Amino acid sequence: MYLPDFEYYAPDSIAEACQLLSQFGAKAKVLAGGTDMVVKMKNELLAPEVVVSVKNLEQLKKIEYVAGKGVCVGALCTHNDLVKSDVLKERYPSVANAARQMANNQVRNRGTVGGNISNAVPSADLPPIFIALNATAKLVGTKGERTVAMEDLFTGPGKTVMAQDELIAEVFIPDQKMTGSNYIKFGLRKSGALAVVGVAVAVQVENGVIKDARVALGAVAATPVRAKKTEEFLKGKNATDDVLAEAGVIASGECKPISDIRASAEYRTDLVRIFTKRALRKAVDEGHV
Ligand SMILES: Cc1cc2nc3c(=O)[nH]c(=O)nc-3n(C[C@H](O)[C@H](O)[C@H](O)COP(=O)(O)OP(=O)(O)OC[C@H]3O[C@@H](n4cnc5c(N)ncnc54)[C@H](O)[C@@H]3O)c2cc1C
Repeated sequence: MYLPDFEYYAPDSIAEACQLLSQFGAKAKVLAGGTDMVVKMKNELLAPEVVVSVKNLEQLKKIEYVAGKGVCVGALCTHNDLVKSDVLKERYPSVANAARQMANNQVRNRGTVGGNISNAVPSADLPPIFIALNATAKLVGTKGERTVAMEDLFTGPGKTVMAQDELIAEVFIPDQKMTGSNYIKFGLRKSGALAVVGVAVAVQVENGVIKDARVALGAVAATPVRAKKTEEFLKGKNATDDVLAEAGVIASGECKPISDIRASAEYRTDLVRIFTKRALRKAVDEGHV
């Protein structure tokens, strides 16, 4: 359980971090909270020759509201930073709530937003709520920066569109027309358990009618998926229990889960049906994003 040898860098600027990632190529890995990477290194699943710690990049540790635009969440914010953020409590409590459902207190104190996304684990808890809220990720590399929609970031388990020399610098959640959003997760324990299924929704409801909806499913395909048929079905309908139940049935047809040690594909599919209905009901009734 000892860590293998590696060269260690802790640059003070994003530009320097990207330069190091470019210089050392596939030999180098970014280290943020280390809750995933250090475990893998100790278990000999990962042995980077160069570790580039981003711990000194203070500018990536902020959660700020940009007036008239949206909320910017720095990639180095920990999950507990999200849980405790006054900005998120006021504007996007569903994001703070998703972070609260993650892991345990120790991991929430170290694990970061950037690490949760970059890992590209299908069961990760933050991507679905970010997708439901139409969030984007700012990627910075040696050639400059670019913005990628969260739903386009993931290409497979452990895979993203990020280049070797790119970092996630921040996540941006735009101001919403949505009137409610929510993320609920089913894990095998109340704490410290990965999602067997995670469902995030955002809805715009006026006078009981659903004007717009976004639904994102986690842990039921190779990447987080948007349930677009479900979204289309919901638009223009009254937010009755029957309609939301039907939306759950449609969402269960939009996932492609696998059977693994945590659950069978059939069980996951049925959880999507139930949790989509529940998440929609909560988002419609509570009326805050
Ligand atoms: C006991 C336990 C329970 C857990 N429970 C959950 C859970 O319930 N839900 C869940 O979603 N996850 C869970 N995890 C997984 C993990 O803790 C989280 O995904 C965490 O957010 C990873 O962040 P980190 O900062 O620790 O990443 P690190 O371990 O530092 O890095 C993870 C990966 O991301 C890359 N990376 C990190 N930051 C960046 C960046 N800014 N730009 C580019 N690449 C980057 C690293 O190179 C590495 O490949 C759990 C882990 C443990 C150990």
